[in-house]
Amino acid sequence: MRVVSRKKTGRFTVLVREIANGIVDEADERGCSHIAFEDLTDISKRMAGAKRGLTWAFRHLHTIVANKAEVRGAQVEQVNTAQTSQWCSTCGYPAATNRPSQARFPCL
Ligand SMILES: [Zn+2]
Repeated sequence: MRVVSRKKTGRFTVLVREIANGIVDEADERGCSHIAFEDLTDISKRMAGAKRGLTWAFRHLHTIVANKAEVRGAQVEQVNTAQTSQWCSTCGYPAATNRPSQARFPCL
């Protein structure tokens, strides 16, 4: 039983590392100076039925991305994501009227 659970944890750790590499590689390809993470401190409280392992996974992902990004000269920050869906990804202009529906984003 112990061996099985250690194996599962190992596979999970590999998956988190692969996701971290994907994030850092994409940021590098796009020439990003910063990588933003939603503040996920209370993720397990906000997600009904989430296991404690999920909190660990997000923290682990953040740590790996921060370490890899630092080597490549980018910074990782935690941000409040409230209203970010209303921000224009091209010019950064924030307005609720940018997003009249899920499918449309006519930047003002
Ligand atoms: Zn815009």
